[in-house]
Amino acid sequence: MEKLLLFDIDGTLIDTEGAGLISLQKGMVTAFPELSGRAFPPLDLGGATDSSVVAFLFEAYGLENHFENQTRFFDFYLIALKEQLQVFEKEGKGRVLDGVVPLLQQLATCSHRWTLALLTGNTAHGARAKLSHYGVDHHFAFGAYGDDHADRNELGPIALRRAEKDHGLIFDSADVVVIGDTPKDVACARAFGARVIAVATGASSHQELAGVDPDILLKNFEDTDETLAAIEAVFG
Ligand SMILES: [Mg+2]
Repeated sequence: MEKLLLFDIDGTLIDTEGAGLISLQKGMVTAFPELSGRAFPPLDLGGATDSSVVAFLFEAYGLENHFENQTRFFDFYLIALKEQLQVFEKEGKGRVLDGVVPLLQQLATCSHRWTLALLTGNTAHGARAKLSHYGVDHHFAFGAYGDDHADRNELGPIALRRAEKDHGLIFDSADVVVIGDTPKDVACARAFGARVIAVATGASSHQELAGVDPDILLKNFEDTDETLAAIEAVFG
């Protein structure tokens, strides 16, 4: 039976070293110039969806959270993100996390067993911008994204519906594993009965992740054989 692997992006596959946050700030001020000079509120981005972050920012700035404002913001955010990734590259900042490329390559050699997709708080365009910048976007067939729903716990069922509708692939949630770096990744897996592998390469410590009881907890993906064994083992 084919299994679905749903990968988070930031802190799991890549580390943009803050390009996302800078782009949120730039995108907001460019989309709404009247905000320039106003303080940017502190954000807890780990595992958050971009839609929930924008709802929070609009609330903080007294902007209406309607489609037109959202579209305006996300258009400018995407421009800022692509620019910032380039700027950071010139400065030697931002990278694919250790072991991710060999892991994805190994999984691709068994594509009849594994379908790789995304479950991320990034918008669809933001996710593709980040992953294509680092040359790993071609590994992922589809995804559920932060502009599909503000609540990350709703993204698992959206990924399953998209697998069926767009690719004719029907997965039982017991044949799905969410792979991510925060307690919110663990929670969203539990919300639709999927398994979960947590990896302590992002915003959350190994201890913090152990506290939310993922099925498997890894320090990182540096040992490809160990990670592949964990993916096998998580399905029992
Ligand atoms: Mg993450």
